[in-house]
Amino acid sequence: MKGLATTVVVAAGNQVFICYNYLIMLKIENLNLKRGDKQIINNVSFEVPDGEIFGVLGMNGAGKSSLAYILMGSSGYQPDSGKIIFNGIDITNKTMDERARLGITLAWQEPARFEGISILDFILIGSEKKGHTLSEEYLEQMRLAPSEYRLRQVDKTLSGGERKKIELSSVLAMKPKLAILDEPDSGIDMLSQEAVMNMIREIKNYGGSVILITHDEEVVKTADRAALMCSGLAFKVGKPAEIIGYYKEHCKPCPTKVYPAKGDNK
Ligand code: ADP
Ligand code: MG
Repeated sequence: MKGLATTVVVAAGNQVFICYNYLIMLKIENLNLKRGDKQIINNVSFEVPDGEIFGVLGMNGAGKSSLAYILMGSSGYQPDSGKIIFNGIDITNKTMDERARLGITLAWQEPARFEGISILDFILIGSEKKGHTLSEEYLEQMRLAPSEYRLRQVDKTLSGGERKKIELSSVLAMKPKLAILDEPDSGIDMLSQEAVMNMIREIKNYGGSVILITHDEEVVKTADRAALMCSGLAFKVGKPAEIIGYYKEHCKPCPTKVYPAKGDNK
């Protein structure tokens, strides 16, 4: 089943105009997650249409990774309330595996190690197509020289940046419908940043959507829309330039978490 079609129909006299019609891939409704006395995710709602790059910006501790874990269904991150609808299916209570089978993937802020698997096999782990030549193409796309990696394993001998690029290669290979990328640019050398941007655009180009969590202004600019997260709230959603401007002007480290004033969130 595809996403929910949102159509605005305007009637004028005896004529009817269909103004726009797009498909909502992801719909998040009033998500809440509390651990101890901390409200980590606070009533978050937004929609991501097919083919949209949706940026999520916010300071450390704002709740960005927690939101990513909730969307992916990571253990320990079952929301206390709220709903997640993916292509018309309520996935709030689905397992991580079930969500993966529906086409959702998460590239972690700190990629996990899968000891004992070769890099070339790892890249195609979620791909329908197989073959090491293909894995090597994805490595090249992420600016890793295949000759240096074809005999190696995904293990602790890889640097953080290398692991990240390998994980992003596997996301590309998977062709997910929804890729949640948690700071895909962090730890990546400057010359490879363009490769990260290109992989994000590639997902959009085949109609996939991306939730792009980042601190980097240049990276947020590749988004179609962005949300500013603040103390667990998706405080403001809008055009990236607007969100970046607001973030720079208003977000400051605060020892006591103070929520933004009510009515200032649209
Ligand atoms: P971000 O990715 O925006 O830096 P996180 O989502 O990692 O932020 O964390 C948001 C806040 O929630 C942080 O203060 C973090 O310490 C806290 N937090 C995250 N997960 C848990 C948990 N399972 N139990 C308690 N606190 C948590
Ligand atoms: Mg994080």
